[in-house]
Amino acid sequence: MTASSLPPASPPVLPPAGAKAAPKISFVSLGCPKALVDSERILTHLRAEGYELARRHDGADVVIVNTCGFLDSAKAESLSAIGEAMAENGRVIVTGCMGAQPDEIREKYPNLLAVTGPQAYESVVAAVHEAVPPAHDPFFDLVPPQGVKLTPRHYAYLKISEGCNNRCTFCIIPSLRGDLVSRPAGDVLREAEKLVKAGVKELLVVSQDTSAYGVDIRYATSPWRDREVRAKFYDLSAELGQLGAWVRMHYVYPYPHVDEVIPLMAEGKILPYLDMPLQHASPSVLRRMRRPGNQERQLERIRRWREICPDLAIRSTFIVGFPGETEAEFEELLAWIREAKLERVGCFEFEPVGGAVANTLGDLVPPEVKAERKRRFMEAQQGVSARLQKARIGKRLPVIIDAVEGGIAKGRSKYDAPEIDGNVHVTSRRPLRVGDIVTVKIERADAYDLYGSAV
Ligand code: SF4
Repeated sequence: MTASSLPPASPPVLPPAGAKAAPKISFVSLGCPKALVDSERILTHLRAEGYELARRHDGADVVIVNTCGFLDSAKAESLSAIGEAMAENGRVIVTGCMGAQPDEIREKYPNLLAVTGPQAYESVVAAVHEAVPPAHDPFFDLVPPQGVKLTPRHYAYLKISEGCNNRCTFCIIPSLRGDLVSRPAGDVLREAEKLVKAGVKELLVVSQDTSAYGVDIRYATSPWRDREVRAKFYDLSAELGQLGAWVRMHYVYPYPHVDEVIPLMAEGKILPYLDMPLQHASPSVLRRMRRPGNQERQLERIRRWREICPDLAIRSTFIVGFPGETEAEFEELLAWIREAKLERVGCFEFEPVGGAVANTLGDLVPPEVKAERKRRFMEAQQGVSARLQKARIGKRLPVIIDAVEGGIAKGRSKYDAPEIDGNVHVTSRRPLRVGDIVTVKIERADAYDLYGSAV
């Protein structure tokens, strides 16, 4: 289907005097209904930015060809559509299933403006912006370049993928959101760069399973600045670390390749912080939970990570009272938590979620036993936390300011994420502003928070 068979654009509205004419896109959509939905998404976005649809390639500023690569005949049709667009216009962006094999396309048409893969819809839009920037639109320009954010201006969540390939028995997220779909690294980095340019000082990387990033797209490379970047946890971390903001990693499971990222933390490229929800420490419970990553030798790995990066802070969450959890299994968890000395820990009593496999895996632990185990768990962790907090007294730590009220500022150190971890309460002779990063001398500590003065 070409632009000529798409519904006509809305009737033209005369542009205000002096305004530039809207750039025109010619669009070819080939392939299955999923590809058609992608085409609609791309066109909706571009129309909302003021681009017009051209009826012919030769009257357009740029041509987009959404290809299909399912069968050889579909590939041939895609290549011929690209050839036609090159002959009639010469400024062509290729996307869709065939875009997953860029070499095959580039071999035949080396002068394409860009080649992006399936569902890489943000990459297509970015390529169009580069080829022909949108005309100024007083309505669209009300939206800031970084989009509308619900977080304060100085930090932002950066989502790198959707869905999850794991099947933890207590969780129904994969049935709600489907399998892992990673965003191309170039798209993530462009979003991160926009956020930093808009004043964001801290990027919080999130997904359901951050260390699995890119597995679904076989770590495909995508263009970023003057280079190609792999969609891989290490590569993305290294690139994010060059943007000049704090980079904090959430939902990292202990896959072996996480080891590679620890030196980036030791070198100060990304924050020495890992949010690693481990959920349990008893091997038999972990097996029943069907947790990802090799958790059985976790203590050894944490020890090694701390040798490489001594100020690494690990936050984790645990579930007590998982179906069939015995007193002996719970005590394994207690011993582990005392030994591992994690900086921040959350504990939840198991709750059966409708439709989760875990509900059928063993006898439910009675509510009073769950509550008792949670109390014992938190007591064990409090001892660990108190010692770690006390060890920070006398240190000078960089602190990002989250709020200022009545002369007292509240912020967070590198070891604390917003909302879930502790705060640093800061007194200062000079006025501090939200988003400032200041050095604070720590003078006092309680179980969760630190207190000090700006130096
Ligand atoms: S890793 Fe497990 S708990 Fe997390 S979203 Fe995937 S299935 Fe759910």
